[in-house]
Amino acid sequence: MPGLPPLIIATRNAGKLREFRDLLAAASEVSGLDAFPALPPIAETGTTFEANALLKARAVRAVTGGWVVADDSGLCVDALDGAPGVHSARYAGAGASDADNIAKLLAALRDVPPARRTARFVCALALVADAEAVCFTGVCRGALAQAPRGRAGFGYDPLFMPEGETRVFAEMTASEKARHSHRARAAEALVSYLRGEGRLRADARRRLSS
Ligand code: IMP
Repeated sequence: MPGLPPLIIATRNAGKLREFRDLLAAASEVSGLDAFPALPPIAETGTTFEANALLKARAVRAVTGGWVVADDSGLCVDALDGAPGVHSARYAGAGASDADNIAKLLAALRDVPPARRTARFVCALALVADAEAVCFTGVCRGALAQAPRGRAGFGYDPLFMPEGETRVFAEMTASEKARHSHRARAAEALVSYLRGEGRLRADARRRLSS
């Protein structure tokens, strides 16, 4: 989309950056944090995905001065009252591997029958720009398998079966996963917003014509 400044994605994760570059290509150029090596790690102290995405975006904006996009995501399991939620990455403790987190989740669900193993992935995507901060949330509902399957993806992908599918995310290609994914849905909402459905686009236009 001509006219918008590049979007700085607040992540040092190359995989995530690649995913966002694809998802946001329709809106603007995308860069990572390579130009800002000294940026300190940002503590995710919020109690919601939205709060964490906004705090990350604001912290990176304060240092870079650019238009910043930050995300926070995780898995909410109904039978566990929404856990692991914002603690998804460190469910089995600080520095836990994906396998550790999966093992802990399967243990917590040991006595939960298949019909009650429903869950949702959530992704909050915040944009902090010149005039405003906005946040869009994408949700993908599904259910958790009894044991890990497949080899693709990351995190809880070996357990998560999106609604209407018999395969888990780890058994899908990246583009098959993107058809369902919480991250793709949040990015779609952000792209529509940037395309002119919000005030931000008007701000960009004003700045360009001044
Ligand atoms: P964050 O958004 O980088 O804080 O990631 C939170 C954690 O949620 C990840 O480390 C994964 O464990 C989990 N997660 C988020 N999105 C996905 C996904 O698409 N597939 C599998 N796990 C995910």
